[in-house]
Amino acid sequence: SFCISKFKVLLGDVGAGKSSLVLRFVKGQFVEFQESTIGAAFFSQTLAVNDATVKFEIWDTAGQERYHSLAPMYYRGAAAAIIVYDISNQASFERAKKWVQELQAQGNPNMVMALAGNKADLLDARKVTAEANTLPKSFINALQEAQVYAQEYGLFFMETSAKTATNVNDIFYEIEIDGDYS
Ligand code: GDP
Ligand code: MG
Repeated sequence: SFCISKFKVLLGDVGAGKSSLVLRFVKGQFVEFQESTIGAAFFSQTLAVNDATVKFEIWDTAGQERYHSLAPMYYRGAAAAIIVYDISNQASFERAKKWVQELQAQGNPNMVMALAGNKADLLDARKVTAEANTLPKSFINALQEAQVYAQEYGLFFMETSAKTATNVNDIFYEIEIDGDYS
């Protein structure tokens, strides 16, 4: 069976890794110096998922404050949103919460929302290199904080890495399956 997906939007702070997640998902690539997105970029990818052919249509937004007023153009018609933060950047997590508030106030009420704690590979690196009682604990707490938050607001939650590809397909598929097949 062929299933045309309703489209998705990626929101989150500049530098959180939105474009990198799309690039990983659509092309299987990662670049260390990903250029900042200007305005927004559109991606389309057709894939076999279980027994269906699914067309993923994705708006990748910029994240800079000066483009904020454009965001509703991209999220208003979206069936699903992936809100991205960087696990090594607390401010980006606070920014992600603001996006969740905005979508809950002004977005499509049936929109499926997923929270992606990106750059999960940095967590692994710091666990290895940091002293036992310094950095790791705060990162573990930050992970728990995100899990608790996502549960409270009814969001899917996953830590992802565009660099290593961890959970990248999963976060795009999970909202697809929930949004279109349930
Ligand atoms: P955007 O502004 O949200 O679109 O963020 P970008 O995709 O442009 O990524 C910002 C920077 O973070 C780039 O230098 C990327 O290479 C880097 N980056 C993105 N995702 C990851 C990741 O999962 N792990 C690591 N280590 N770096 C990442
Ligand atoms: Mg970008």
